[in-house]
Amino acid sequence: MQLLDGKALAGTIRNEICAEVAQIISNGQRPPKLVAVLVGNDGPSQTYVGAKEKDCSEVGFDSEVLRFSEEVSEAELMDTVERLNGDPQVDGFIVQLPLPSHMNDQRILEAIRPDKDVDGFHPENVGKMALGLEGFVPATPAGIVELLKRHAIDTEGKLCVVIGRSSIVGMPMALLMGKNAQPGNCTVVQTHSRTKDLKGICAQADILIAALGRPCFVGEEMVKDGAVVIDVGISRIEDTSRKSGFRLVGDVDFEAVANKCSYITPVPGGVGPMTRTALLQNTLQAYYRHQEK
Ligand code: NAD
Repeated sequence: MQLLDGKALAGTIRNEICAEVAQIISNGQRPPKLVAVLVGNDGPSQTYVGAKEKDCSEVGFDSEVLRFSEEVSEAELMDTVERLNGDPQVDGFIVQLPLPSHMNDQRILEAIRPDKDVDGFHPENVGKMALGLEGFVPATPAGIVELLKRHAIDTEGKLCVVIGRSSIVGMPMALLMGKNAQPGNCTVVQTHSRTKDLKGICAQADILIAALGRPCFVGEEMVKDGAVVIDVGISRIEDTSRKSGFRLVGDVDFEAVANKCSYITPVPGGVGPMTRTALLQNTLQAYYRHQEK
C-alpha cells in the first residue's frame, strides 16, 4: 500500500506557485489577487476563509476578506459581487457557503463573472467542465485529479465508483473521471443515497472515491484487493484522549481498508490540502487569462 500524501504534494505545488509569483513580480507585474466574501459567524466558514487567506499569503498572492453581518441584504451582497466583477485588480473571488437562509445561494453564485469564478460553481463553468472546455473546475475534484496525475496512477479503462453526487464533489468528480483524458477514461459508476447494493458495487471498483460525509462508512468488504481509494470525507468524531475532545476521520475506515489498497489517501493530510492548493492554482489561471486580454 502506498499513501497518497496530499500534504506533501500540496507543499510541492505551492513551491511551484511561489516560484511563478516571484517571476511575475520580477517582471514588474502585480501578483494574483483572490478575494473571499464571508457572511455571518459560521465557525467552519471562518476557519476555511482564514485558511484561504493564509494560503494566499504563503504563495505571495494578494488577498482580501470582505466580512458581512448575518443580516446583510441580498441586494447589498449583489452590489459587492458586481463591484468585484468589475475590479481589474481582482482575479478571482469566492462567496463562502452556506449563506444565511434569507439569501438565494444560486442567484448569488450565478452573478459571479465566470472568468473570476475560481470555485467553479457558476453554471457556465460547470457546463464547460462537462464539455471538456477551458473553465474552472471545483477545487476538490481538481485537487484529486492532480493527486492521481502526479502519482502517475493509471486510470485508463478502470472501473471508478464515486459515492456521492453533490455539485461540489461527487458530480464533477464522476464527470472528470469519465473524460477522455489521463487521469480519466474510466468507466464511471456514480452512486448516491438511493443506490441499491452499494457495497456490491463498491467491491468491484478499481478506483473508489468516497464523498458522502459519513465517518468510516467504507469498510473492508467494500474494497477490492489492490484498489485505489480516495477519501474525501471529513467528519469530527469525539475523542476524549485528545485535548480538543475530537479527531478528524474520513468516509473510509482507514485501519480496516489500508492493507487491501494499492493507494489510499489519509484523513487528514490527503484530499484536504490538495483542495486548498487547487483554489490557488485556479486563481493563478484566472490571473494569466486576465493578463492575456
Ligand atoms: P453532500 O452532503 O452535499 O453530499 C453527500 C452525497 O452523498 C449525496 O449526494 C448523497 O446522495 C450521498 N450519500 C449520503 N449518504 C449516502 C449513503 N448512505 N450511501 C450512498 N450515498 C450517500 O456532501 P459533500 O459536500 O459532497 O461532501 C461530502 C464529504 O466530503 C463531507 O464529509 C465533506 O465534509 C467532505 N468534503 C471534503 C473536502 C475536502 O477538501 N477534503 C471538500 C468538500 C467536501
